[in-house]
Amino acid sequence: MNQKGGVGKSTTAVNLAAGIAAMGRSVLLVDLDPQAHSTLHLGIDQDTLNASIYDTLIDPARAPDALVEARKNLFLLPSVVDLVGAEIELASMPAREKRLAQGIVSLPGRFEFVIIDCPPSLGLLTMNALAAVREVIVPLQAHFLALQGLSRLLETVMLVGRSVNPRLRVSGAILCMHEEKTRHSKEVVADLEAFFKASREKDVPWRGAGLYRPPIRRNVKLAECPSFGQTIFEYARWCPGALDYEALSKAIVTQWDRFLERKDDAATHHAPHVDVRSDIPRVPAP
Ligand code: ADP
Ligand code: MG
Repeated sequence: MNQKGGVGKSTTAVNLAAGIAAMGRSVLLVDLDPQAHSTLHLGIDQDTLNASIYDTLIDPARAPDALVEARKNLFLLPSVVDLVGAEIELASMPAREKRLAQGIVSLPGRFEFVIIDCPPSLGLLTMNALAAVREVIVPLQAHFLALQGLSRLLETVMLVGRSVNPRLRVSGAILCMHEEKTRHSKEVVADLEAFFKASREKDVPWRGAGLYRPPIRRNVKLAECPSFGQTIFEYARWCPGALDYEALSKAIVTQWDRFLERKDDAATHHAPHVDVRSDIPRVPAP
């Protein structure tokens, strides 16, 4: 999530989900944005749906009706424009922040990864996402305002999120539309690294968070593929955008597998911490 629009949330949600699914792991993608960009990106025709994420939020028992098998190993809870109204309707309902979590639990089958594409706001839709997940990942761009906004964003997310989900963690940021060669972006990346490094010594809820590797380079193919209803892997398998999302998917899956191994070894039960940054030592979850 990121309250700002146009930072790369939907592009990352779809292509990360597709990248992980291509590794043979089951993924559920939840499109929680009324703009339905993830749903459209996967080429799902909204007119053919029996139900959607809207119906799921109004009645979590309907989640199975909404579930779409979008690709092999890749399942989707699709969005529709009606979702705009859900925010208002939900406001007066019981357990109004827990309904997405209830819906996911009522789905048949098990998913190894659940990725939620959030709207650019901190309303009830996003609250439902924060209540359902273990980790928040923030897609952003390396421009000088990124740093200014970041601690505020992280603070807000955690403040709001922990009220509905005490185990919530921010695991890190993904640099999207990255221009690695410019001096400016190098400076901002260095600043971001320093910010996360300093956070390791502080008692902040995003302690242990960091920058995911690799950054996702700016690549026009990533902007083109949604209009064809294709993931980047279907549209241009070997372009920089596909290679970056493939590498990011592998890093996240590897980290998750390591976490499970450690969990088996130590039989400890703490929140998983996806640490795919080579340079930042792992900080145990509180
Ligand atoms: P958000 O979901 O945060 O609003 P999007 O993922 O929809 O952001 O991205 C905003 C726009 O930028 C879209 O048109 C998308 O196709 C484009 N875009 C996203 N990532 C890249 C990238 N790495 N290179 C080029 N264009 C990108
Ligand atoms: Mg979006």
